[in-house]
Amino acid sequence: MLENFNQFKERLTEEKNRIEMELRKIASQDSEGDYKAEFEDYGREREDNASEVENYTANLGVTESLERELEKIILALKKIENGTYGKCEKCQKDIPEKRLEVYPAAPHCVECQ
Ligand SMILES: [Zn+2]
Repeated sequence: MLENFNQFKERLTEEKNRIEMELRKIASQDSEGDYKAEFEDYGREREDNASEVENYTANLGVTESLERELEKIILALKKIENGTYGKCEKCQKDIPEKRLEVYPAAPHCVECQ
């Protein structure tokens, strides 16, 4: 197991907070913890409606990718808790620390990703 996984835990926690903050700006959370992109009402004019839809579509995409990233981070934090952090989910080998430094939430080694 990695000896200095505390630094990864710190970075993952920071990243988790940052993403949750971003998500709260553009989405609301339902009772199951899923984020739903918010539809902002700008007004009744035709241009207003067009930019509402445009904005909503953009928010949908961002919400989705942020949520996916958040899931990976939460999973990585769980792995730190149960001592399986830093192992590739496919081949079970240790993920090189250099890769984790670049991407602490990485679930796979470079070969398996
Ligand atoms: Zn692997």
